[in-house]
Amino acid sequence: MLLMSCGSRKKEQVENVKQVNVPAFNADSAYSYVAKQVEFGARVPNTTAHKKCAQYLSDKLRSFGATVIEQKATLIAFNGTKLEAINIIGSYNPEATERVLLFAHWDSRPWADNDPNPANHKTPVMGANDGASGVGILLEIARQLNLQKSDVGIDIIFFDAEDYGASHYNGSNTEDSWCLGTQYWCANLHAPNYTAKFGILLDMVGAPNATFFKEQYSMDYASDVVNKVWSAAQGLGFGNYFRNDPTGPITDDHYYVNKLLGIPSIDIIQYRNEGQQSGFGHYWHTVNDTMDNIDKSTLQAVGATVMHVVYNE
Ligand SMILES: [Zn+2]
Repeated sequence: MLLMSCGSRKKEQVENVKQVNVPAFNADSAYSYVAKQVEFGARVPNTTAHKKCAQYLSDKLRSFGATVIEQKATLIAFNGTKLEAINIIGSYNPEATERVLLFAHWDSRPWADNDPNPANHKTPVMGANDGASGVGILLEIARQLNLQKSDVGIDIIFFDAEDYGASHYNGSNTEDSWCLGTQYWCANLHAPNYTAKFGILLDMVGAPNATFFKEQYSMDYASDVVNKVWSAAQGLGFGNYFRNDPTGPITDDHYYVNKLLGIPSIDIIQYRNEGQQSGFGHYWHTVNDTMDNIDKSTLQAVGATVMHVVYNE
């Protein structure tokens, strides 16, 4: 009797576990979307490359079956420059009330001001990793969402004007000079009363041997989401990328989504605590942030992890 009742309870539990077939993330495809963005040149607001890339991203999302909104705004940078910015929003299953937000910034920094050579400080950053990598992964996820629907609604947002912030600038309010597109969207949502169960930001997710630590704002606002994503990654065999150690707070797009909207959001962002010129990689905000520093294995680790989480919601 005892055995039987145990057995039947077990069966019931198994039946309650969602059986999910997660489509295979294709890193070759993601890589080609990263390369395509870089081919336009640096995607600095107010440039032709920026306009052309915006069109490409919108067209691509539409071709993958998303409902696309281009949110255009004139944003004022810390130095007074008026930025003609475009947030690009692609929605799947727009009627679903249960939603997950996936986001990345698509602009690239106008100045390589972390370059060891001062002569390069006014050269725009190509942003293969810092910008294009996250967008490339999300485009591949969009392609997959078109082939196999997820249960929850998904919003993929490519935010503009993340990387026009002040770094070697001594004015006030410098922290809020970053992430301008996201701050604008938080104050001007594309859909009235928009909200989501949680959000995942991808930033600098394509470098060889990248390591992603549990970033402090993500842990402060959304530790459940961090732990869910990290254990998914580790379960899939990507524990060498997704590490359990903490890092300090990083001001990035997820910070504003947490602070201004209360959508628990995390940042998957490359960071090392020590041993490099910059924790974000030696090519960060230099002229070397090119396709040479993009690795398909890293794209695969991040893309497959995010897909696993999304399709299991
Ligand atoms: Zn940057």
